[in-house]
Amino acid sequence: MYLFLFRLSINKKINALYLHLFIMIESITEIYYLLEEALELSLSYFVNTEKRIHILYLLTSSILAYYVYKKSRVKTSFIKYLFPKKIWVSKSAFVDYSLFCFNSLIKIVFIGPYIIVGFYIAFYTNEWLLGLFGFPSYSLGVMQTIILYTISLTIISDFATYIIHLLMHKVPFLWEFHKIHHSATSLNPITQYRIHPIELVINNTKSILVFGLVTGLFDYLSSHSVDKMLFLGANVFHFVFLLFGANLRHSHVKLKYPKYLEFIFISPFQHQIHHSSNPVHFNKNMGSKFAIWDWLFGTLVLSKNIKRLRFGIGDENSNYNSLYKSIVTPLMNIYYSLVKAIFHAKKKNN
Ligand SMILES: [Zn+2]
Ligand SMILES: [Zn+2]
Repeated sequence: MYLFLFRLSINKKINALYLHLFIMIESITEIYYLLEEALELSLSYFVNTEKRIHILYLLTSSILAYYVYKKSRVKTSFIKYLFPKKIWVSKSAFVDYSLFCFNSLIKIVFIGPYIIVGFYIAFYTNEWLLGLFGFPSYSLGVMQTIILYTISLTIISDFATYIIHLLMHKVPFLWEFHKIHHSATSLNPITQYRIHPIELVINNTKSILVFGLVTGLFDYLSSHSVDKMLFLGANVFHFVFLLFGANLRHSHVKLKYPKYLEFIFISPFQHQIHHSSNPVHFNKNMGSKFAIWDWLFGTLVLSKNIKRLRFGIGDENSNYNSLYKSIVTPLMNIYYSLVKAIFHAKKKNN
């Protein structure tokens, strides 16, 4: 009898061990597939025409870089000029690459196909306008809708991007997250994706909201005459922006525009000024495509007369020189600030 019970308990232990082992293998397999998916998503950016680092846009950026190379009369070969080791294989660049892949993982796990939410917002915006004003007495034609929609979406989303970027710089809580982007000490096209996951969520939320509201408005104004999928079609302005050297914004190639044009469009060098560690350039050139917002709000700096730039946030760069530090430091800083604030508030009350 005792022997039987002993064997039973041994069998139970072995079964529990098998179960644990099975769960562990299943979890490892799931993590492996998730990482594989994240890597696939990251690599797909090079062949996705909506993404800035599509090979076509990298190629056109290289052509523009050749123009700058020829003009600047540097003595090295073009390949050496375009791919300096100290920029592409720097510690800062590795943080960019790892955050790029890590954010793909965040997108898969937390964000998903957010455009569906955008269509929901569009639907309710349209319903809300119908309830408020009834059917419009004049409806826009298909061509009119497409042209006006594209112009409106470009301007409104660029303005929203400027406002969010301004808040990222001015609100201490948000600056803690945005610092990651500014802690890059060298710039390469992947630096665009060097952002904290919280900033990624904020940016996506902004895109969903703007897309939903503008699409809903034009769905209403055109009385549903435009197929919803057309609203998702390639935006010609965005395509031109990507084609004309968007990748050089995060690079060492100093592509400047003529002075008058830099009042309207942010040149790649103007964005490099935005990354400058010189306090004179702090909180300047926060625009994305258009410079008009910076011009209007007094945050515009032109490329003229600026020769050399150093990038980063000075002494604080080292707080963000690894993937782990970049993710954790902002959260710790916010936590300590909160504890400090609570402590001071309690002290005041006593
Ligand atoms: Zn910034
Ligand atoms: Zn940047």
